[in-house]
Amino acid sequence: MIRLCIDLGATAVKGALVEDGQIRNTAKTPTMHDSREGIVRSLSDTIGALFCPEVQAVCIASAGDIDEKTRTCVSATGNLQGFTGFDFAEFVRERYSLPCFAANDAYCALLGEMKYGAGRSFPSARVAMLTLGSGVGGAYFDGARMRPEASNSQKLGHFILHENGTPCNCGKRGCIEQYLSGRAINRLARANGLESDGLFSAYREGEPSAVQIVKEVGEELALAAEIIDERFPFEVLLLGGGVAESVGESLPALQHVCKRRLALAALGNCAGILGAYALAEEGSGL
Ligand SMILES: [Zn+2]
Repeated sequence: MIRLCIDLGATAVKGALVEDGQIRNTAKTPTMHDSREGIVRSLSDTIGALFCPEVQAVCIASAGDIDEKTRTCVSATGNLQGFTGFDFAEFVRERYSLPCFAANDAYCALLGEMKYGAGRSFPSARVAMLTLGSGVGGAYFDGARMRPEASNSQKLGHFILHENGTPCNCGKRGCIEQYLSGRAINRLARANGLESDGLFSAYREGEPSAVQIVKEVGEELALAAEIIDERFPFEVLLLGGGVAESVGESLPALQHVCKRRLALAALGNCAGILGAYALAEEGSGL
């Protein structure tokens, strides 16, 4: 069973042919995110680079609020200009005459982790996931099944961490994205004379300013965990995205401040792709 799987983000449209949960060929196109036409062209280019007659479905993990029943983008942020209302199922049917599956990218990342990655160590735990990349996404597994409502932007995807806090590109203030995204953490590191992306390695070398920032990041995470737990009670907080990849052996330090069980995503860049693949096992394509 070969499925063509896509991870559509604001920076790149990544794709892979996946067979029996194993990634074969991959392709990547920069996302022309300034218009719907540009985004669709980037999507078509990635699909075109991978397409072969054996493909049986196109499975898409996408940024934005995606209705996984209608396979439509219900709302996209400014990161994907003009993409609100885009119908993935119609696009795939018209261009490729294939069934389509689509869901939010953080939802797919957690689904992928539960099935093929870190979640195999806690298969029946209640798991909340934060994907900390250029933005922040969220998803929830309630111990038995995935809960798609957790991944829409009003819930774990984009919630207020600090009332009247730092202005966000969504127009609100104090969103989690302004404190825990990779971009926000790098900004904090640079403001303290550390290299962008170098926070956790400097921490491991005992650099005092890095020690202080990691403590601050842990405190923000503790606050986020408290807010998430009110709506989606969890036993494990799974961290994914670029930040999680650089945390590595600094995880106990974050856990010490956060006082919750933390785990790191295991699939790296592939989580969205493998989660998209797994979507086809949860329901029928449109
Ligand atoms: Zn925001």
